[in-house]
Amino acid sequence: MFDIRKYRQAATAAEAVRLLVEDPAARCLAGGTDVLVRLRELHPGYDNLVDIHNVAELKPIVLLPDGTLRIGAGATFTDIMESPVVRECAPLLVEAAASVAGPQIRNVGTIGGNLCNGAVSADTAAPVLALNARLRLLGPGGERCLPAAEFHTGPGKVALHPGEVLLSVDIPKDDRQGWGGQYVKYAMREAMDIATIGCAAAVRLRDGRMEDVRLAFAVAAPTPVRCPAAEAAARGRSPDEAAFLAVRKAVVEDVKPRTSWRATAEFRLHIIRTLAGRVLAEAARRAEGARA
Ligand SMILES: Cc1cc2nc3c(=O)[nH]c(=O)nc-3n(C[C@H](O)[C@H](O)[C@H](O)COP(=O)(O)OP(=O)(O)OC[C@H]3O[C@@H](n4cnc5c(N)ncnc54)[C@H](O)[C@@H]3O)c2cc1C
Repeated sequence: MFDIRKYRQAATAAEAVRLLVEDPAARCLAGGTDVLVRLRELHPGYDNLVDIHNVAELKPIVLLPDGTLRIGAGATFTDIMESPVVRECAPLLVEAAASVAGPQIRNVGTIGGNLCNGAVSADTAAPVLALNARLRLLGPGGERCLPAAEFHTGPGKVALHPGEVLLSVDIPKDDRQGWGGQYVKYAMREAMDIATIGCAAAVRLRDGRMEDVRLAFAVAAPTPVRCPAAEAAARGRSPDEAAFLAVRKAVVEDVKPRTSWRATAEFRLHIIRTLAGRVLAEAARRAEGARA
């Protein structure tokens, strides 16, 4: 069914790195929901695989002693949805995971594959930006940590060096505790559809004002993006209609939507402006109940 030319299974992340270094043409296979589709469609570069699906160290979702939420790259969307610690610490990631495809894909597709695949429509990409996550990578030179904002470098491109494996998505305590957040996926159908636009927001309140604001979009530009102009328009203001109107105006500076068969650039911009105000308002409402 699949024309796999070379297949090796890694037992650990370090072994996966070694196999990728030995054979630079090889590629990781996690859940396979992107890789195997491309392989079947005969895209070049998908028939030489290092399987990391069973690497146990990539799977745990844990709260570290310093309060960092660590989500293993091999955690599936279902693992994320069912994790009490993610539900408690980063509910917008649960919303993102729940918006992906159907149960079969969610049971095998991983957060690591979703990010490393580099798709601008990846449902976890905008939440990871809004949470200011750090991506922990293991390569031949050892471990390094990259801000999520530096990971997507172009359409379908990410900042993985040759031989590198994503170990985990880390969300430090200060970037999640005391924040309210939301993820909304706008798609043309209610079920089993890729995002036309994905929007994630996180807000921290102090004395009734939006002390800090993060807004991020998927499919609003060639890569998933944070929105510095819209964030600046909201920062320091009360979460009221005037502030959200300013956000809707400013966000135009942050995005560069394109026309595709799914939607025109004009329609996407309309959705972006609508969601920017709406999702930020809900994040601010949720921040009211959040304790720092
Ligand atoms: C029917 C269908 C519906 C879908 N719907 C959605 C949707 O609604 N939203 C959405 O966002 N996506 C969707 N997808 C895409 C896909 O399911 C996701 O992107 C998924 O998260 C990919 O994860 P995976 O574990 O299957 O990755 P794989 O296919 O195994 O790998 C994807 C890429 O990431 C690399 N990779 C994987 N893990 C690592 C790692 N730890 N370190 C380094 N590189 C790694 C692989 O080498 C490969 O290049 C859909 C796919 C299908 C088939």
